[in-house]
Amino acid sequence: MNLNRYRRQILVKRLGEKGQHILSEKHVVVIGCGGLGSNSANILVRTGIGSIDIVDDDSLDLTNLHRTSLFNEEDIGKPKCQILEEKLQQVNSEVTVRGIKKRITKENIESAVKHADIILDGTDNMETRFLINEVAVKSNIPWIYAGVHTTVGMVIGIVPRQTPCLKCMSHSIVDNKTGEIPVLGNLPVIIASIQCTEAMKMFLGKQLSGMIMYDIWKQRFEQIDIKRNPECICCGKEQFELL
Ligand SMILES: [Zn+2]
Repeated sequence: MNLNRYRRQILVKRLGEKGQHILSEKHVVVIGCGGLGSNSANILVRTGIGSIDIVDDDSLDLTNLHRTSLFNEEDIGKPKCQILEEKLQQVNSEVTVRGIKKRITKENIESAVKHADIILDGTDNMETRFLINEVAVKSNIPWIYAGVHTTVGMVIGIVPRQTPCLKCMSHSIVDNKTGEIPVLGNLPVIIASIQCTEAMKMFLGKQLSGMIMYDIWKQRFEQIDIKRNPECICCGKEQFELL
């Protein structure tokens, strides 16, 4: 690893050279690569993560461009994960970047994440997030929820059996699954950045920040304390209904 590339972030004592080495040994699986997943993958590759799998089965559409950073007009129609693999590999040749064109299902999710040190949620639907939650709890892999809606984003770092899982808090998460999700274009990159910071903290063994909500219009951050539900069917009773 060429440490000089990371010199400016190594100067940050919270990371340091030791932290940089830790990051370089980690494998991340990003599921979904729209506004959130593509920005998170971009950040992590530049940060010097060891390897990253980007799993997505969609092709780039004109309507993706307002909230993404790496895609451009000539990429329209190509698989998003493939575009990201090509571009991000050029950004940092020390990172192993794999684009995997696959729709995540209950049949393939366990094999897709089996080598992951962390799973990053770049999806836009709760069904897949609950599936990620179950496989994460079952396989004991931390994962980080991220979602955006209008001007508000949410990030939740989940460490199975240590912090509440998504099922523990399902009553407090609103599922806005009515048609297209409205979102201001400048929001996902901030939420992706918060998601990646929580991932870094997790890798460095630091305490996570619970449920984070950010309203980019009101410029308001909120940190919400949530508790594990001992009766949780997923992380309490270990019943995996979706797998
Ligand atoms: Zn739970």
